[in-house]
Amino acid sequence: MNVLVLNCGSSSLKFQLISTSLEQIDARADRRLARGHIERIGGAALLTFEAEGSEPVRSARPIRDIRSALDAVLQWIGSEETKIEGVTGLADIQAVGHRVVHGGEKFSKSVLIDDDVLRGIEDCIELAPLHNPANMQGLQAARTTFGRGLPQAAVFDTAFHQTLPDTAYLYAIPYQLYRRHKIRRYGFHGTSHRYIAYQYRTINNIPRHDVNVITLHLGNGCSIAAIKGGDSVDTSMGFTPLEGLVMGTRSGDLDPAIVEFICDKEGMTIHEADLLLNKASGLLGISGLTHDMRELIAEAEESGDRRARLAIEIFCYRIRKYIGSYLAAMNGADAIIFSGGIGENSALIRSKVCEGMSWAGIELDDARNAEHIRGREGVFSSDDSRVKVWTIPTNEELLIARDTVRLIAGVI
Ligand code: ADP
Repeated sequence: MNVLVLNCGSSSLKFQLISTSLEQIDARADRRLARGHIERIGGAALLTFEAEGSEPVRSARPIRDIRSALDAVLQWIGSEETKIEGVTGLADIQAVGHRVVHGGEKFSKSVLIDDDVLRGIEDCIELAPLHNPANMQGLQAARTTFGRGLPQAAVFDTAFHQTLPDTAYLYAIPYQLYRRHKIRRYGFHGTSHRYIAYQYRTINNIPRHDVNVITLHLGNGCSIAAIKGGDSVDTSMGFTPLEGLVMGTRSGDLDPAIVEFICDKEGMTIHEADLLLNKASGLLGISGLTHDMRELIAEAEESGDRRARLAIEIFCYRIRKYIGSYLAAMNGADAIIFSGGIGENSALIRSKVCEGMSWAGIELDDARNAEHIRGREGVFSSDDSRVKVWTIPTNEELLIARDTVRLIAGVI
């Protein structure tokens, strides 16, 4: 079955076309056939499309909205010049899987889309006003284009973390605020953490309930999850993705009293302070240079920039503290797994994070660490390390495609 996976943002659309089936999932033989993204939707958009085995095709043209962006993708897929294996037209797309950011408390797993589900996702708009409306537009555009006969699934970023116990998801604020407004920790990147945990147990051939690991998704956004007995029991992102680790442009944890203080001192509105914490903080805010970890490392190494170094140190220190606290929360773990652009590629960051953690039974093998980059999955801790340290490349799109197929087959 060919599944079109859509990830619609407020001004962007990313897609992958993936060939998968229950048999292919079992054999780990599912394959990406094509991928692409459209940026700056709503103005002069930039389009990049790539069929597997071919060079990417880039173009620019005005694109009004998500619906027109989806039309552009489908036009490319169906065009005679596009050579996608086994796909000649839209009839070769058998299902659509959507990434949906917020599923609130309503969605604890992926679902096939019907009117009820659409209403449920709409109800969560309040919790994710920046993301869910764009996701909704993607769902509606695909429904209009393909018709209701084509199965479509919603896969939620929050769903995997719905197993958090109330001790982990409640904030210590008046309880009625949770009752009235559903203010609690939801956690995000759930599809990524779930995929990493699934890969780990597949590679090691262990049952789900024996998975006791800490997973790290370190990309532009960063989060960590404690997975015990196969379930997420704690995670660093909270009511929104702002909480937790230091990220490209987000501050992560901070004293909430700072917000009012910033507003007073800088003459900002709450909204402006919120933007500052989400868009101008983190690695970018500390370094004053860039949100991009690779550039930051180059800057620190080549010119010894003090603030670039500081940003890297603070980034790693925060992660180390979280690993320590999750080891405490889950009575130790069998493995720590790094993923995301930084976690999959930077031996330097991984070694800084794990520095001085021999008290917890964590020891790296430097040569193995250096080898496990650019998508090479495997263990890079030393043979004596009590807690194994892994890198497993994440693949949220693949999990969305697999969930779509499994929902259609009725196995979830
Ligand atoms: P997203 O969260 O947008 O999916 P990615 O998972 O692609 O992002 O991660 C992007 C981050 O990974 C950037 O900060 C980038 O600099 C970083 N990164 C990629 N390769 C390396 C590398 N070799 N060394 C350090 N950081 C890297």
